[in-house]
Amino acid sequence: MLFLMISCGNPKLEIENSPELPEKVYSGPLLNGDTLLSYVRTQLDFGPRNPGSKGHSACKDFLLSYFSSRADSSFLQTFKTTVYGKTYEMANIIAAYSPEKKERILLCAHWDTRPFADEDKDASNRTTPILGANDGASGVAVLMGIAETLSKNKPDIGIDIILFDGEDIGLSGDQDGFFQGSRYAAKHYPIHKPKYGILLDLVGDKDAEFRFEPISQQAHSVLVDKIWSIAKKQQSPFFLHEVGNAVSDDHVMLNEHGIRTINIIDVNLVGNISTDPRRRYWHTADDNLSNISGTTMSNVGNILLDFLFTSSDSVY
Ligand SMILES: [Zn+2]
Repeated sequence: MLFLMISCGNPKLEIENSPELPEKVYSGPLLNGDTLLSYVRTQLDFGPRNPGSKGHSACKDFLLSYFSSRADSSFLQTFKTTVYGKTYEMANIIAAYSPEKKERILLCAHWDTRPFADEDKDASNRTTPILGANDGASGVAVLMGIAETLSKNKPDIGIDIILFDGEDIGLSGDQDGFFQGSRYAAKHYPIHKPKYGILLDLVGDKDAEFRFEPISQQAHSVLVDKIWSIAKKQQSPFFLHEVGNAVSDDHVMLNEHGIRTINIIDVNLVGNISTDPRRRYWHTADDNLSNISGTTMSNVGNILLDFLFTSSDSVY
């Protein structure tokens, strides 16, 4: 994703409770952090997954096969795109639950990884592809866990999981180079268009900090509030009730095409502005397993499961 220099004031927004209805409670199975960590490891074992690479091709096959046995319908949405004079075969990986239903929501992440570690301190690393443990694999791992749960028990609403390709292929500062898969999917949505969407990006750091993201708030503030209120109910240490920086990411492409989408993102990783030196690994060779925690990913996934089964039909 791109770093936008937009910072918002009003740092402490408290969620208001709406006490009218008795709260539904999610009592289904929970995601296991170790399992999600193993899903990150599996993706990393393919090596970097930037478009055109061996790892990209092998990981695509693996993910399609994984979702094929856990969704009502799963398929690749393939497309060719030319970026900086080079043409790539790309594929969004799609898993649909109750594809016949017109009332649907979208859960998404990007599965490709950045072709160059252009933020690395060491100049000799800056043309090397990254492993993308957090920037790529973490969001996919959470959605793999959710897919496993949905394969056994679905909420009433239709759900699409889409893993976007070509998110991270752009040159720093060039909006048009990024977001190839979400741009394509938003224009050529392959199922009934969903009512809204939730994007996961950078959701695996040990000390993740998920703040309200202003573009998400503008797109669907009720949905943002709902997710953060479930996080509060679950006493998540990772979801902070304060406004962070706006970030240009796949959700912008979806919002531009009428799918109101919010982003759950550890936004201070973007641009390497974290106060913690360990957390300054975005778009560097250090985006590896050492920064990742199953606890963070299972927390995000369990908040989403709670949302899907208790509240997803209430935020239209
Ligand atoms: Zn990235």
